[in-house]
Amino acid sequence: MKYDLIIVGAGPGGLACAARAAAAGLKTLVLEKKTQVGAKVCAGGITWNGLIRTVPADLAERSFPEQHLRTPLQHATLRSSTPIIATVDRQVLGMRMAELAAAAGAELRLGCRLCAIVGQEVTCQAAKSGRHERLLASFVVGADGSSSLVRRSLGLATEAAGVGITYQVPGDFPRMEWHLDPRRFASGYAWVFPHRRSASVGAYVDRRSMAASDLRRNFLSWAESQGIALGEVRGRAELINFDYRGYRFGNTFLVGDAAGLASGLTGEGIYSAIVSGEAVADIIVAKDGAAERLARLARNHHRHRRMLDLLNRNRLLAMLIGEAATLALRSGALNFSAIEMAHDHQPFSRQ
Ligand SMILES: Cc1cc2nc3c(=O)[nH]c(=O)nc-3n(C[C@H](O)[C@H](O)[C@H](O)COP(=O)(O)OP(=O)(O)OC[C@H]3O[C@@H](n4cnc5c(N)ncnc54)[C@H](O)[C@@H]3O)c2cc1C
Repeated sequence: MKYDLIIVGAGPGGLACAARAAAAGLKTLVLEKKTQVGAKVCAGGITWNGLIRTVPADLAERSFPEQHLRTPLQHATLRSSTPIIATVDRQVLGMRMAELAAAAGAELRLGCRLCAIVGQEVTCQAAKSGRHERLLASFVVGADGSSSLVRRSLGLATEAAGVGITYQVPGDFPRMEWHLDPRRFASGYAWVFPHRRSASVGAYVDRRSMAASDLRRNFLSWAESQGIALGEVRGRAELINFDYRGYRFGNTFLVGDAAGLASGLTGEGIYSAIVSGEAVADIIVAKDGAAERLARLARNHHRHRRMLDLLNRNRLLAMLIGEAATLALRSGALNFSAIEMAHDHQPFSRQ
């Protein structure tokens, strides 16, 4: 079977790409190894400039015009006239995006895992029957996340990556909190992101500055110090690839985490996945302006990398920068949106 475009992975990057490409008339297939779309180890935070303004309002579970930022020396309450961050249920977001892609004409094959890829020839395996199938496409998009097989098949290493751990703790959590403490989380941070009847309580670090086992140990002692009872809840950890080395390799493209476009500083990646997915579809159908959108995203990604490299120099410096940034945020000299991946956001075309 020959397709114009095969997309590997039905996360936000792959589904955004599929909806856009199919709407432009491309015969588009999405392969997803899981049997359902959406579920993902994630805190589900979306930012104002990035996505809150552009996703349907009912997708947001909770939104927060107030943020609580804690450092070893300060507790800052930051307020804004618009919600700084909202939380979404990744399964609901995934299902909504899958519906849009299918309505645009994309074919979605769930429970179908990419096994091998040579150029534009893709071999996949159906989970149910175990049957292998060879498919051909004019273009392939790797949207298969941080451990992307498409990326590995291109010979690209992933040296710069973060690790995030999250516990979905039941209960009503009234506040969205960020905890910067370089003694426990180096250049990273811990968070409480409330959802409807639970919260993602977790932490993120650059794995080059801390091993995942140390992150877990420090996170558990931090949660205890905050009086957060994790009880029987199972923690889940995953890598976040921020080793961006380009998005186009001949007729094979990478988007989202597969491209390493998540932020190394904050771990924010849903926005980058959607913007890069849509832009790559536009590049394939030769629509104007898409390369500039990707260049802008790459610039912001680079800005976050530079800040991360500075914080990684030593923990005392990270502590000083964290305290100074918090002071600047409290006084209004710095705006919280400065750390969004959509920092210089300009609405991307939706047609
Ligand atoms: C603990 C944690 C917390 C996070 N919190 C946030 C947050 O609050 N806000 C935010 O913006 N980002 C957050 N992120 C990052 C965010 O989850 C990712 O950046 C985002 O999901 C990337 O989207 P994607 O479409 O590129 O990849 P993914 O969402 O990872 O989707 C990739 C898809 O490809 C599929 N796949 C993989 N391999 C194959 C294969 N061989 N064959 C077929 N299918 C395959 C997977 O099953 C998956 O469905 C967090 C990450 C972690 C780990």
